[in-house]
Amino acid sequence: MTDRSSLHAHEVQAIAERIRTLAANGERAHIEKGGVHHFVPLPKDPRFAGRTVDVSSLNRVLEIDVEKRLAVAEPGVTFAELARATLAHGLLPIVVPELEGITVGGAIAGCSVESMSYRHGGFHDTSLEYEIVSGAGEVLTCSREQNPLAFEMIHGSYGTLGVLTRATFRLVPAKPYVHMTYVRHTSFADFERELRAHCAQGDYDFIDAIIHSRDALVLCLGRFADTPPYTSSYRHLEIFYKSTLARREDYLTTEDYCFRYDTECHWLTATFPPLEWKPVRWLLGKRLLGSTNLIRASGTLAPLLALKRRPDVVCDVFIPARRFGEFWEWYSRDFDFFPLWVVPYRVPAMYPWIGPEHAARMHDELFIDCAIYGKPNGDPSVDWSERLEEKTYELGGIKTLISRNHYSEERFWSIYHRANYDAVKRQLDPRGVFPGLYEKLHKVG
Ligand SMILES: Cc1cc2nc3c(=O)[nH]c(=O)nc-3n(C[C@H](O)[C@H](O)[C@H](O)COP(=O)(O)OP(=O)(O)OC[C@H]3O[C@@H](n4cnc5c(N)ncnc54)[C@H](O)[C@@H]3O)c2cc1C
Repeated sequence: MTDRSSLHAHEVQAIAERIRTLAANGERAHIEKGGVHHFVPLPKDPRFAGRTVDVSSLNRVLEIDVEKRLAVAEPGVTFAELARATLAHGLLPIVVPELEGITVGGAIAGCSVESMSYRHGGFHDTSLEYEIVSGAGEVLTCSREQNPLAFEMIHGSYGTLGVLTRATFRLVPAKPYVHMTYVRHTSFADFERELRAHCAQGDYDFIDAIIHSRDALVLCLGRFADTPPYTSSYRHLEIFYKSTLARREDYLTTEDYCFRYDTECHWLTATFPPLEWKPVRWLLGKRLLGSTNLIRASGTLAPLLALKRRPDVVCDVFIPARRFGEFWEWYSRDFDFFPLWVVPYRVPAMYPWIGPEHAARMHDELFIDCAIYGKPNGDPSVDWSERLEEKTYELGGIKTLISRNHYSEERFWSIYHRANYDAVKRQLDPRGVFPGLYEKLHKVG
């Protein structure tokens, strides 16, 4: 047993002991993973209610098997650390969420999407095995063969079923650079046609898009490359999302490509315009920019932000590809917020956490993730977070639960698979050390 794995085993036993004590005392708890949370801060946040189960020490890459192209990591490893560790071997995780501080555990228990998702789905879909500490303080292993329902239901469980303590997942060969091609469309129909064509052909390693306005829809198509004529950096003065409108092609190191949206946290810097000014970036960029700095800053400003009627809308909605046109019609006419990040996402098989009724309405293998980062929501006459949730439901889609949720319990469990969730909850957390999924994510409307 390596030092790392014996240290791992020791710390997992301590976490299990902690949970057994909490269960015996009938106490409630939440998981503290360290670092920043990629949740939209809410006043009196119920998601962090109760005692703490601290798993912040579980932040190591335990193994990289170059031959088998597999990695084993603890949940607190950030994707910045993971990408750096695997790229040193010419390998990369298949789905690398773009913000450096997102962790392996959060990408599995929460959600994850990136520009290889058009082929592979989310990070969970590239995973093979999980070690979990249950709400009863037992340490168990699950995979698609062993405890398959628990394996599937930990995905998107938002820390309500147990603590993920180790994950084994696949890697792909990676070249040191990425060559980007930007195709600009002025009509949605042409844009959608070409997006769907590339997803079907699979002729690029990376496919996503940025819709800058109703008539500036840019496909961002990437291929691994060995020898670039030059490389661009968007880590300080230059702004990545703007470059996709100004350029026809570009070259980035693969690491910079993975975190191309990190400096602006997509385009959250646009909500505070001085952060896009070069002199300000030159002077303070290193301290202020970058998703972790920006999210920390918004945390510090939370009391101020709480004065807002509602937080800005930050949410991903996954729309069945065959209904993307309908979504666009509503979005461009009513919701009207740009830039919009667009990522095609293939669901390898219907997730067991989606209820049968909703799965029948989804009825598609390809989804279009439409990600909104920062739509103001202060108008007393309309709650855009609620409207977005309603439209997504109407079109048979799914939204991420990282911000405000407005579902009635009945509607929620018509979307999510109650029987499967309850079965795994009874198995893993019979005494309810962790809150239920609906309860944890709905207390504050
Ligand atoms: C501004 C913003 C931008 C985003 N951009 C992207 C993006 O570009 N790509 C993308 O894929 N996603 C993106 N997301 C979504 C983000 O990936 C998810 O919210 C993800 O779940 C965050 O993971 P985290 O590591 O930060 O964990 P946290 O936010 O801290 O936690 C997420 C959930 O996972 C649970 N959890 C964490 N660790 C464990 C564990 N060890 N065991 C059990 N449960 C655990 C927590 O309880 C929580 O419910 C974005 C989110 C925000 C707010």
